[in-house]
Amino acid sequence: MSEWGAIEPFGEAVTSYAFRDEYLRDDIEHDQHFCPFCGIPLIPVLIYKDGKSGKTPHFKTHKESRHIFPCDGAPEYSHSSSPKKRPLRSVDKTELHFPEELIESRKISVVREPTKGDTTGHDTPEEICCRRKAAQSLGPAHYRTSLLREIAEAFHKVLSEFGHRKKAEGEESAKKWLKETLKGLPLTLYRVKRTYRDGIQKTGFMPSGANPERIFRGAGTPVLFQDAIEIPSEDPVKINGQDVPVFILVRENLLQEPSMKSSWTKTMNRLLEASRNSKRIFWFCYGKMEKEEGRYIILIDRWDHLYIRE
Ligand SMILES: [Zn+2]
Repeated sequence: MSEWGAIEPFGEAVTSYAFRDEYLRDDIEHDQHFCPFCGIPLIPVLIYKDGKSGKTPHFKTHKESRHIFPCDGAPEYSHSSSPKKRPLRSVDKTELHFPEELIESRKISVVREPTKGDTTGHDTPEEICCRRKAAQSLGPAHYRTSLLREIAEAFHKVLSEFGHRKKAEGEESAKKWLKETLKGLPLTLYRVKRTYRDGIQKTGFMPSGANPERIFRGAGTPVLFQDAIEIPSEDPVKINGQDVPVFILVRENLLQEPSMKSSWTKTMNRLLEASRNSKRIFWFCYGKMEKEEGRYIILIDRWDHLYIRE
């Protein structure tokens, strides 16, 4: 099992997480995968699959072709750069990997011609070593995602485990578990280092400081206006003992976005359907709270930054 693949022999080394991200976002499924270091063909596992996230997408080798010595399917890490164990938490009786970083989306493409590679499997150990060393700078195969959905669903798994624990152990012990668990899960939001505890919050208090952007979560019933859809948050921000309402705002121009990707279309359709039927929805969004005429708004200017749970 390895976490690195390429779409051509000796092509750009890309993580299994990046392939999955591209698939979930744009329905792109590549025909062939190869080891970026020794060039053997690889089989994608749990990459091109909808459904439950959290399980580790990876590559495996065909029975008849193992990685060619000295390749083990990963870049060569020196002692100091060897990958740290990624966050793995036992939630709901299953071991899960959590997304560690929200990133801009990217398209995986052929970026260079296959070079110095002998696709017939007669590569020298030196050449393989050289490629693995060159890939050191890529760092460990982190679980990065451009989809808010992946982070929201992982967070929700922790919340549902919290619910079970509350019943079994009582509120105090469950709250302690929740706090520790969320604090222990790193979550970088577009290069700003946070954790699941301080990176995801309700709208009840306003984050301040140099980077007030957060992932906000909450519930509300969206309302369709002529030029926008507004989702009132059920959790107003408290300022000097006063409740100030908070709204998620999606303007008309976004609703008419011409080239909709499949993951965005789902969000938009859920939002439109809920606003037509006055249905309460659970939402996650990325942005910052800004004052506007006696209320706070979180303006959504791209579909990437809104996710509505089913
Ligand atoms: Zn290999």
